[in-house]
Amino acid sequence: MAIRYIYMHTFDKKGFVPWEEATIHVLSHVIHYGSGVFEGIRGYRTKEGIAIFRGKDHYLRLIKSAKIYRMELPFDENKFMEITKELIKKNGLMETLDEVKSSGRMKNPFVYIRPVVFRGYISEEYDDPVIQPPLGVNPLKNPTEFFIAAFLWDDYLGEKAIREGADIITSSWSRLAPNTIPTFAKGVANYANAQLAKMEAELTIVAGSYEEKLRLKKAFENGEKASLEDVRFPVESIQLNSEGYVSEGAGENVFVVKYEGSKARIYTPPLYASILPGITRDSIITIARDLGYDVVETEIPRGMLYTADEVFFTGTAAEVTPIRSIDGIVIGNGKPGEVTLKIREEYVGIARGEREDRYGWLEYI
Ligand code: PMP
Repeated sequence: MAIRYIYMHTFDKKGFVPWEEATIHVLSHVIHYGSGVFEGIRGYRTKEGIAIFRGKDHYLRLIKSAKIYRMELPFDENKFMEITKELIKKNGLMETLDEVKSSGRMKNPFVYIRPVVFRGYISEEYDDPVIQPPLGVNPLKNPTEFFIAAFLWDDYLGEKAIREGADIITSSWSRLAPNTIPTFAKGVANYANAQLAKMEAELTIVAGSYEEKLRLKKAFENGEKASLEDVRFPVESIQLNSEGYVSEGAGENVFVVKYEGSKARIYTPPLYASILPGITRDSIITIARDLGYDVVETEIPRGMLYTADEVFFTGTAAEVTPIRSIDGIVIGNGKPGEVTLKIREEYVGIARGEREDRYGWLEYI
């Protein structure tokens, strides 16, 4: 097996470090207080090699996320991209991707790039850290460190969700309120909240109807076998913000499609609805407008989700994933919608290098 590398920039490691040696100190500030920001970037296998989708925009978001937490980075987005490309090459990810795909080990593998910037460990100044561990809440004393990892991932919400539409729930956990933790930063701490919402979805089974629930309950109580007819196994949550309006998924932005007569209009929560300003969200707004749709950024009450003609998620990992039910309520006709599929086709076509890269979103390695 070839050596895999992680790019590290910590007090004791700099440059491409073998995978097994890519460790940080347990007294790094981030482990105790969530003082980190990160990115998720996708590399697509195209005919011309691996293409990184809007890599510079992701690194610019990373730099801005770090800025909110007063962490300064030694590199700009161009330097980060240079390192990222080298990392993918050094790890032979294109060849591995082709291998795992042809052997059937992964269905739709893609390159996933994960940079994390964090408050690290203080090594100097303290000749005997046991006497006074440098570990107060104040992060300003701790150095800003980072690493970049790159590996292969498969469809995030599952291939079935893309084909048939995802079953999801509305979480009982609200999204972060303004002036608590800023969702403009992709902070690791944001995902304490997102994890609760994600686990809630993973641990929920939804009966699609009252009759189905009674039927299953009776069978369960009588120790009988029962076939599942109208049961949903949610794969994700939508979270509402502190005002009760739709915010976003645990790892995705949300779009709603409503027909007004024969004209489809697209709605998505605004930046002030406690959302992460998604790079895919921005791409989808651009594509949808170019396809001739009105896209409106506005508050979306929960009822608008259930009565929508189509709902879909967007994100680096989720790309464009149709949603077929929310809390057991069927959306539209319960199948991936026409507008969703049209936008998905365009987005995926551009990202995979099959359609003209007319917005200059791809950077080839
Ligand atoms: N919201 C949250 C909470 C996310 O984690 C993500 C994934 N990064 C998104 C939205 C979508 O953002 P992007 O399109 O930039 O991946």
